[in-house]
Amino acid sequence: MTAFQDLEPMLTRLKLTAIRDRLDNLLDEAAQQELNLREALAFLCQAEVEHKDQRRIAMGLSVARFPAVRTLESFEFEAQPAVDPKQIRELAASRWVAHGDTVLLQGPPGVGKTHLAIALGREAITRGYSVLFTTAINLVANLAKAQGEGRLEERLSYYSGPKLLVVDELGYLSFDAGAGNLFFQLVSRRYEKGAILITSNRSVGEWGEIFGDNVIATAILDRLLHHSQVITIKGESYRLKEKRRSGLIKTALVEGIEKS
Ligand code: ADP
Ligand code: MG
Repeated sequence: MTAFQDLEPMLTRLKLTAIRDRLDNLLDEAAQQELNLREALAFLCQAEVEHKDQRRIAMGLSVARFPAVRTLESFEFEAQPAVDPKQIRELAASRWVAHGDTVLLQGPPGVGKTHLAIALGREAITRGYSVLFTTAINLVANLAKAQGEGRLEERLSYYSGPKLLVVDELGYLSFDAGAGNLFFQLVSRRYEKGAILITSNRSVGEWGEIFGDNVIATAILDRLLHHSQVITIKGESYRLKEKRRSGLIKTALVEGIEKS
């Protein structure tokens, strides 16, 4: 019989670590299922591919810096009739990410904008795209800081790197002068290359107020809206609805909060 090299060092060298670490179990199972050689090889490769996919996704999720775990499976579409499940499923396929398009989720607080933004970000990661999550305030503060330190270029590259940039909570706090310019530089840099998902409590008509400058807001929107889907979520806050359902808050009080 031909003398072969030891299998384990070869598997290590080929970086087939999932096969290496579970070799005995995998071979036993292949034998039990009476797989032929070709099937056994496919069975081993599948174990390796699944392991590598899982690791890639775990890594992608950790670099994305999502503030919480939110998934499409945990989004109750029945509770939010303003959201079209079909449109969200389409977005989950992440073709818009591949094309470098824009998705704008707008609506009042608590309607699920951040939930959907994170969930769509996760879907993009499982399909192999790099994602970074940030809030609008953090994004602009970091760009302004970098500018002050003469490192704006570096920071713009950092935010231009990921295939999808999620910018949460645009418009909750108004920006200082100069923010619009920085945001514009980033949007121009990413234009038609990287996708952007923005959540906002303000409609696009109010972006001039957010940036304190209509000209810059128009220039930003011109690029963002060129290839875009705008999803407007109406309705009441999911948080308050939950509380009401559980009887924690009396209906009258909730209505008072929602009107204020
Ligand atoms: P927004 O970003 O629009 O202010 P969030 O996405 O933060 O709102 O939603 C508030 C909370 O309610 C979150 O914990 C979110 O997971 C939950 N939530 C909102 N809408 C839904 C929904 N339709 N199904 C399940 N959970 C929801
Ligand atoms: Mg939010």
